[in-house]
Amino acid sequence: MNSTPETTPDLLDKVTNLAKRRGFIFPSAEIYGGFRSTYDYGPLGVNMLRNVKQVWWQSMVQMRSDIVGLDAAILGPPAIWAASGHLETFTDPLVDCKKCKERWREDKIDGVCPNCGSTEFTEPRAFNLMFKTQAGPVEGEGATAYLRPETAQGMFTNFANVLSTVRKKPPFGIAQIGKAFRNEITPQNFVFRTREFELMEMEYFVPPADADEWHRYWIEARRSWYLDLGIAEDQLRLHEHAKADLSHYSRGTTDVEFAYPWGWDELEGIANRGDYDLTQHAKASGVALDYFDQTTNERYTPYVIEPAVGATRAMMAFLLAAYHEDVVEGESRTVLRLDWRLAPYQVAVLPLSKKSELESVSREVLEFLQPHFMCDYDITQSIGRRYRRQDEVGTPYCVTIDFDSLEDRAVTVRDRDTTEQVRVPIAELLASLRERTGQS
Ligand code: ATP
Repeated sequence: MNSTPETTPDLLDKVTNLAKRRGFIFPSAEIYGGFRSTYDYGPLGVNMLRNVKQVWWQSMVQMRSDIVGLDAAILGPPAIWAASGHLETFTDPLVDCKKCKERWREDKIDGVCPNCGSTEFTEPRAFNLMFKTQAGPVEGEGATAYLRPETAQGMFTNFANVLSTVRKKPPFGIAQIGKAFRNEITPQNFVFRTREFELMEMEYFVPPADADEWHRYWIEARRSWYLDLGIAEDQLRLHEHAKADLSHYSRGTTDVEFAYPWGWDELEGIANRGDYDLTQHAKASGVALDYFDQTTNERYTPYVIEPAVGATRAMMAFLLAAYHEDVVEGESRTVLRLDWRLAPYQVAVLPLSKKSELESVSREVLEFLQPHFMCDYDITQSIGRRYRRQDEVGTPYCVTIDFDSLEDRAVTVRDRDTTEQVRVPIAELLASLRERTGQS
């Protein structure tokens, strides 16, 4: 079997189509003609997105004693965003094409209007990306609220709460996964850049003198996370931002970039935010946000190292990296070679025929596996077609129940990547699947 990773520009179309056709990602409000680059995650997509978040949480929180979790509010008062600098500086340069009047983000268009090819634009003006709304029934200044454009500020405003409740000392981190909103001028490339998305961020508080070392540590740790989940080494690279391109809070940022169908682009940013945020919030709120080290008798404001990635953008990268077309027994197939931890279904239980004799043992196998794996159950179409359908959505293992199963209490386990099939006694099925997925 020979398979080549797809690197052609139509890969984006293929993955977008597959995502729609197989229930990963639907255009939002589609029955009303769609709504401004927003997307809904369908039955398979929601499984996969939850898996992306779960493996991140597992590596960031569950497997570590130095990082704790948080789930902060999405709505916040202007005070937070004034102190953080977002009200003033969280902007992109907006230009209007003088010919067709379309609006663009100046730094993304190389001086040429993507709509009409004109090179004449208005002067760029700073466009704030935050969504503004009102909290409560009375309009006016006091009611203004913002939807968070990043989750990070919740970690900074709760710094003292976390310190006093969980007894951590630097170096320690706070991790959060949640929705963020940015009124992007030009959302683009499917779910790569959307106005509503999910962020996975971790703020790691360290003594200032150790910040550079921890920055290097997290850059490598985050790159390794993608490799461990099946993205090939040559599809990732690191890109260090030039000083002039740094965000207002950053002392240094390195991106993990991914080879998207349109070229290298950001997957994740790992920033050294210095003491910017804690200092700003301490000044603005009057509440001390520092750390007193009892062993050295020193009080200091920790520096923050922040790995930040969109869960939705990461899911898209995993889908792109997993997409393959190959030929099995003279028949071409599409296969998502997703790591089993990311696959929407880890096991598909497939009775060979619809005949009722197979139903009870098939249901028995399904119910026995369900507490351990996300399972699909499919009785429609020929078994070959059903294997192809499972390959196309990345299900690593198919378990087929046939008429012999009634006699020998054994089933056939088919491997998505090799298409090899082996007979396994039902009594050993769980242990066998656990072994295949590296869990035992
Ligand atoms: P850009 O300059 O490309 O707009 P950024 O550098 O401002 O983005 P960060 O603030 O560093 O982005 O965001 C951290 C991470 O959040 C990004 O690496 C990306 O994974 C994700 N992200 C940011 N904006 C979006 C978006 N609009 N849609 C989806 N994911 C996003």
